[in-house]
Amino acid sequence: MALRLYNTLSGQVEEFAPLEGNRVRIYTCGPTVYDYGHIGNYRTFVFQDVLRRYLRYRGYEVVQVMNVTDVDDKTIRNAKAAGMPLRAYTDQFIQAFKIDRELLNLEPVEHFVRATDHIDDMVQMIQTLEAKGFAYRSEGSVYFRVRAFPDYGKLSKINLAGNRPGGSERVDADEYEKADARDFVLWKAAREGEDFWESPLGPGRPGWHIECSAMSMKYLGVPFDVHSGGTDLIFPHHENEIAQSEAATGKPFARFWLHAEHLIVNGQKMSKSLGNFYTLRDLIGRGYRPTAVRYLLASVPHRKPLNFTFEGLLQAQRSLERLRNFRSRLTMEIFPAGHNPVFETRASQARQALEDALDDNLNTAEALAALFDLVHDGNAAMDRGEFREGERAEVLDVLERWDRIFAMLDDADHAKLLRFGLAAPAGPQGAGEDGGGVLVAALSDEEIEQRIAARNSARARRDFARADQIREELARAGVILEDTKAGTRWKRK
Ligand SMILES: [Zn+2]
Repeated sequence: MALRLYNTLSGQVEEFAPLEGNRVRIYTCGPTVYDYGHIGNYRTFVFQDVLRRYLRYRGYEVVQVMNVTDVDDKTIRNAKAAGMPLRAYTDQFIQAFKIDRELLNLEPVEHFVRATDHIDDMVQMIQTLEAKGFAYRSEGSVYFRVRAFPDYGKLSKINLAGNRPGGSERVDADEYEKADARDFVLWKAAREGEDFWESPLGPGRPGWHIECSAMSMKYLGVPFDVHSGGTDLIFPHHENEIAQSEAATGKPFARFWLHAEHLIVNGQKMSKSLGNFYTLRDLIGRGYRPTAVRYLLASVPHRKPLNFTFEGLLQAQRSLERLRNFRSRLTMEIFPAGHNPVFETRASQARQALEDALDDNLNTAEALAALFDLVHDGNAAMDRGEFREGERAEVLDVLERWDRIFAMLDDADHAKLLRFGLAAPAGPQGAGEDGGGVLVAALSDEEIEQRIAARNSARARRDFARADQIREELARAGVILEDTKAGTRWKRK
C-alpha cells in the first residue's frame, strides 16, 4: 500500500510521493525561543519525527529544515527584562530546546536554522515582493498587500470578509498603518530601544511570516514536499507564508500541508497564554521519563486532539515497560527448537498491520495496537511453553522495525538525564531507577490535596489505620506531610 496523508490544502487524504526522485523535502515551523518549550509544542515535533522516521523506513531520503524564531516581540521583551543581549538570551533557550529534543529522541534535522542568521535572505525576498507590486511601505515598515494575491485564503478557507478561523497568538500590531486590515507586516520599522538591522528597506526587523518563507526556499527550493506545524499556525501564519512565497516566485510553495492537533488539558488547549502548560523539565521533575512523554505524545494520531493527564502519562510509562519486558524476554529466554505452525505467520501479520496503520495517514494508535497484539500473543505462547526458537528472530525483527519509527525501546533516559544534569536526586524512597519504570510515582498538586483531604476525614472519624496508610502512600510518591495547628502542610522530597 502507498502512504496516504491528509493534506490541509486540498482538505483530502492523498497518496504521498516526493516531487523529485527519492528525496522528501520538509519544512517545519520551529519554536520561538523566549522561554522553555511546553509539551503541547512538542506534540507537533514528535509527530514530525515519527513522519520523517517512517519516510526513511519506506526508503526515502529526508531533508528537513526547522527554523528558530529568535527575534519577535516576546524574545525582545523577555531579553530586555532579563537585562541580556537578544542573542545571548535566545541562545540559552535554543540550548534547552536541543536538550529536550535529545531527551525525546527527536532525530536531528538536516538544517536547524536561526532567523537572525538569515536577515539578508528575508530582505531580498521583500525587495522582490516590492518590485512585483505585492508590498508597500508605510511609516518605515513594509506590508504585504493581500488584495494583490487572489489565491489568499486557499489553505485556511478563510472568507475574505475578514473572518479569522483559528486565530493566532502572534498577530502583528500597528493595524492603523496598514492600507487593509488583512495586510501583514514583512519588515517592521525599528522602534526606540528595540533590536534592529540596517537594510535597504530602512532600519528594522523581519516580520514572523517572512522568516519561514525565506528560509524554506533557501534550503529546499520551491515547490517542496511537506510543510508542517500545529493547527494554530494554519491562519494567519501558513496562509501568509503561501501568499508571500507564491507571489515572490510565481510557483507553488509546498505540496502537502500537515497539521498536528492541540494537546488538551481539562478541555482547553495547552498554551503559555492560558498558563496550563507543562515543560518537559516539569514532568522530569515529577519523576516521569522522557521516553514515556514521547510515547504519550506519539500514541494519538496527529489529527486527533490529545487529552493530557498524569494518569495517561503513567499508563504510557507502563505500556513502554511492557514492550521492553517483552523484548528482554524474547532476547533472553530459551525456547525449544523448531517452529510453531500456529505462530509462524503471526510476526509477518503484525508487520503488515504496523505498515498498513502508518500508511493510513500515520495512524500511530493502530500501529501500537498491532504491536501490542503481537506482544500479547507472544507472551501467551511463551507462558504456555508453545513459543519456538524458529520465531524468535522474526518477532524481534517486528519490534526492531516498530522502534525504527517510534524510537523508544532502548532505555537511555537515566543516562541522558545524568548527562544533562536533570536527574532526580536519589532519595531514601528510591527516587532513582526502580526497574518499574517510575522514578517517583508522580502526583499532581490536586491529587496530593485530594489524598490529604481523604486522610483528614479518616482522622476525623478516628480511622487511624486508614490515615496512616494514606500518609505512607504519599511518602512512597515522594510527598512529605507535616501536621501543624494550622492544618496539614506538604512538600515534595
Ligand atoms: Zn513558519
